[in-house]
Amino acid sequence: MAGQRARITERGAILLTDLVSVDGFHPGSPLRVVTHIHSDHVLGLSDSVRTAHFIVATELTHELLRALEYRVPPSKRLDLPYGVAVEYDGVRVRLAEANHVPGTAQVVVEAEDGSVLAYTSDFKQPGTPVIEEPDVLVIDATYGFEGWVRPWQDQIDDILVDAVLEALAYERGVVIEAYQGKLQKVMHVLREHGVEAPFVAPRRVYQVARVLASHGMRTGDVLLETTREALEAMRGGWYVYFTTGATARRGRGPQSRRPVRIQLTGWELEEPFRKISETEWVVSYSDHADFKQTLDYVEASRPGLLVVDAYRGGNVARHFAAVVSRRLGIPAVAMP
Ligand SMILES: [Zn+2]
Repeated sequence: MAGQRARITERGAILLTDLVSVDGFHPGSPLRVVTHIHSDHVLGLSDSVRTAHFIVATELTHELLRALEYRVPPSKRLDLPYGVAVEYDGVRVRLAEANHVPGTAQVVVEAEDGSVLAYTSDFKQPGTPVIEEPDVLVIDATYGFEGWVRPWQDQIDDILVDAVLEALAYERGVVIEAYQGKLQKVMHVLREHGVEAPFVAPRRVYQVARVLASHGMRTGDVLLETTREALEAMRGGWYVYFTTGATARRGRGPQSRRPVRIQLTGWELEEPFRKISETEWVVSYSDHADFKQTLDYVEASRPGLLVVDAYRGGNVARHFAAVVSRRLGIPAVAMP
């Protein structure tokens, strides 16, 4: 039965047949796929590097992994472009685009018996093509509760740009906090909207920005925080500092006034933009499908069985699986 060929292990590996382990380590799987650079999708990569034959990802994801200082030896690195199938021991693997952070891919595996097993990875809409009628679809349902929708998604770039411009006007500096990939997308959006203030970043954020600049994003003029230009910009109070949070304190810069911190999070579901205090702001900026988009994906995909990722989604995944069975009549389970 196809359902038994796709499962999620206790260690967070998504198995599309036992040969293909996605986003987590599984002993004995010769192919390890990394759908994107976020840490909950790079689980056990060093174990996979030791034991798997190939580490499969888009070329961009491989380059970003290197920028983030993960080690994949060239002999095991397999760059797989979207839409191109690779065959291994009777299974065919291909990647499809996913709108999440740059480089993200959905995974489609055709097993030896012809059944099709797919995984969406993290995604949002628009921009993520639906995998149609797989035997099993594994889905991320981060926002799998009915109320978790963001009706302002079409305007959120403009809302963010306005917030940054307002914050810059105080000349006390701006700190933007989000995860890797989202930060660099925001750099690009701000430049596209004419924001000219110097951008400053710590090393890994900077390294990811450099890679994305070589792939056409407007992230090439970011200053590394330890350089003289960066320190000068921060002293002047007219800059945007990008952080994943780990280096938050240093974003304050040498000046005495606190910068305005703008946190970008998908968990702000009440309103698109909120000021918690004079210097703590939140923008509801997400790279995940909301509830409605996730349900729409399943409805359009019409899988034989839906598996909702409970390793990353917990109780939300169990709830979403129940919603799918009830509303769409599609068999759905949460795993593990
Ligand atoms: Zn992610």
